[in-house]
Amino acid sequence: MKFGGTSVGSRERYQRMASLVAAVSGPIAVVVSAMGGTTDQLLEAGAHAEAGRWDETADVVEAIRTRHHAASKTAGDLPVIDARCDELASLLHGIYLVREISPRSRALLVSFGERLSAPIAARYLGATGRRASDIDARDFIVTNAHYDEAAVDMDLTRQGAESCLRPLLDEGVIPVITGFIAATPDGITTTLGRGGSDYTAALLGGLMNADEVWIWTDVDGILTADPRLVSEARTLSRVSFREAAEMSYFGARVLHPRTMLPCMAAGVPIRIRSTFDSQAQGTLVSEETELLPMGVKTVTAIRDMALVTLDGRGMVGIVGVARRIFQATESSGANVVMISQASSEQTVSLVVGADAVPDLVSALRSAFELELNAGWIERIGVRPDVAILSIIGQGMAGTTGISGKLFNALGAAGVNVGAIAQGASELSISVAIDDGEASRAVRAVHTAFGLTRIVHVMLIGCGRVGKSLVQMIEQTRPAMAERDLELRIIGVARSKTWWMSRQGTPQPEVERPSDDDLVSTLVRERFTDLVVVDVTASDLAPLHLACLRAGFHVVTANKVPLSGKFTDYRDMVEARNARGNRYEYETTFGAGLPVLHTLKELVHTGDTVVSVAGCFSGTLGFVCTRLGEGVSLAEAVSEASALGYTEPDPREDLSGRDVARKALIIARAMGRQLEPSEVVLHPLVPGLDAGLDTAIADFAPVLAERITAAAERGGVLRYVAEIRESGVEVGLKEVVAAGPIGSLQGPDNILVFKTRRYDAYPLVIRGPGAGAEVTAAGVLGDLLKIAQAIQ
Ligand code: ADP
Ligand code: ASP
Ligand code: MG
Repeated sequence: MKFGGTSVGSRERYQRMASLVAAVSGPIAVVVSAMGGTTDQLLEAGAHAEAGRWDETADVVEAIRTRHHAASKTAGDLPVIDARCDELASLLHGIYLVREISPRSRALLVSFGERLSAPIAARYLGATGRRASDIDARDFIVTNAHYDEAAVDMDLTRQGAESCLRPLLDEGVIPVITGFIAATPDGITTTLGRGGSDYTAALLGGLMNADEVWIWTDVDGILTADPRLVSEARTLSRVSFREAAEMSYFGARVLHPRTMLPCMAAGVPIRIRSTFDSQAQGTLVSEETELLPMGVKTVTAIRDMALVTLDGRGMVGIVGVARRIFQATESSGANVVMISQASSEQTVSLVVGADAVPDLVSALRSAFELELNAGWIERIGVRPDVAILSIIGQGMAGTTGISGKLFNALGAAGVNVGAIAQGASELSISVAIDDGEASRAVRAVHTAFGLTRIVHVMLIGCGRVGKSLVQMIEQTRPAMAERDLELRIIGVARSKTWWMSRQGTPQPEVERPSDDDLVSTLVRERFTDLVVVDVTASDLAPLHLACLRAGFHVVTANKVPLSGKFTDYRDMVEARNARGNRYEYETTFGAGLPVLHTLKELVHTGDTVVSVAGCFSGTLGFVCTRLGEGVSLAEAVSEASALGYTEPDPREDLSGRDVARKALIIARAMGRQLEPSEVVLHPLVPGLDAGLDTAIADFAPVLAERITAAAERGGVLRYVAEIRESGVEVGLKEVVAAGPIGSLQGPDNILVFKTRRYDAYPLVIRGPGAGAEVTAAGVLGDLLKIAQAIQ
């Protein structure tokens, strides 16, 4: 069992570690890291000493001393802490005197972290009643003299481990071994590289044929992405050795890249588990793997890299370019993470750690001096601030369309790709991108490969539709969970107040920011798969546009933003197309009826829509039906309002403006570039500017007369919209009572599509066109469409 720095950061953490070990019977060996952050502190002290800052150096040593005393307090007195800290202080004083730190002394310096930690861990373990003994790994892990990332001599180490550890295990003593450090055959301290304690554990487990190696850490296992970048990342239950190796190589720092080799060779499985949740199964790394539907299991990023490019037409035909590049990189000591060469041989790009650039560039300059002077190679360019994003998974081999999906996702997120490489194993694909875009890119790719399962919902407006939507979302929860999906409401904004929480737990409401600030807050929170749902009736065109430009999806039941200036409409459609996100507005029209969907299908299948006519207003349909039944205009209007059929201000309906808006949305969906002023509008009730009641009182007698006259002719009055090639017109019309429009009752909507195909018998859609419930159901339908697309 290995416990990382994140698992031994304090007294409580050491105690937790001890109880986890003690809970398992049978022979166990424990490997511990330095207390979290100590290795960095030691390096910092070394840098102070080298620069001649003794006071600062001494301060760091004292901080380390105090922290270790505090952590060991309940385990009893540990004189070894002071002895080690004194020894550390004299090493640093030596460095301070000569103002120089060599790789060899640096390895000795950082060894103090683990050497201080192991005795404390052993002491806590002893306190549980198990016998434990702290062991210095330098006594038996033998390496070469590559001090800061040494290579292990397997045979000598196996012999050493057997003779040093086996007798203890046989006696029931738990050896508590320092991770990370080792020694050369002459006993000079070396390290296995940063994060190397994982490797120590795997090495001993492999060489001594353990049943399993357990790596205890602060996350539930290997996740689909670094949880610090993607909060929705999930734990993978099974990962193969090769996948795990590729993942850690490309930046999943939960495991040191070399960890897998010794266990793979010996067939010893590795389990990664969380000290915070010992019930969770964690991730099992073994020969076998689990395939995910799209093949990709993890998205990783390595930050702080640079792209070094050699280019020039003259490179075609220069002998041994690749070999000479590799020689130069080797001599400069740079670790090339990625290399790509265009088949034209005109450019070669290398991605290396940013700190390796100066040495690499000068090595390349001298290797290609001749060619540079002759102009065959035009330049050696350096692009700083690069990150490498990789997608990894065994299932990718043999799945088509993976790179297409990757580039689409990056393109849609507005991320520029600098260079591309695919591992020969087809286990990974890597791209170089701008470092500043790394987290956004990781999130976008994580979603594109179906690894994100939470659709975030920000609700704007919480009236009748909003409230019933919230309830419906709650009701769909179990069904969604079965499909591994969650619709999570992360905030609700009303006109004056709002709350927001990433976890989706409603908060006390605070003053609502301006629309701009609201969008920038959402951007800052870095939500992925965020759907902003507008169920207001305000002019929120700027908000819709800002959301679409920020890459959020928008679902709206609010028709105002879509029926304003044509340029606004065009901008929104363009923003949506540019970012590849969704803008769903099915419920702006006929509540839950699939009107826009039908229209789109007709156009997609090659039909031409000639005209659309019908009653588009549930409210006015209801009012007209009640009038026909002999109810007065004033009564009919107040009934409609009480039933929730009207817009918040009933004048919106009675003026015909609401119908005009819908007609405009349909006309635009049909491709017409119309302005609102071009819709010919005859209000149902004229003179509304004088006030609702006055207008109704004035118009009621005129209307009653028209109704009677129509009835005598076998007709009824309906508020009809017509969208034709010649224009868009809405107004009160007399229609045959027995016809499709005349027979319409109550708040139902009807739409009659005449198309080239549906010529003799038009296509008719009819159904309830108003009401909070049906509208909310329609909005939920739009949300589910987006959720499904994500899956
Ligand atoms: P330890 O001290 O236990 O060795 P590390 O900090 O070295 O812990 O490694 C654990 C950390 O690795 C996690 O806290 C997490 O932030 C990071 N990490 C990066 N990528 C991944 C990933 N794909 N899965 C899990 N953890 C990851
Ligand atoms: N303490 C070392 C480091 O911080 C090794 C480890 O924790 O694995 O790199
Ligand atoms: Mg680690």
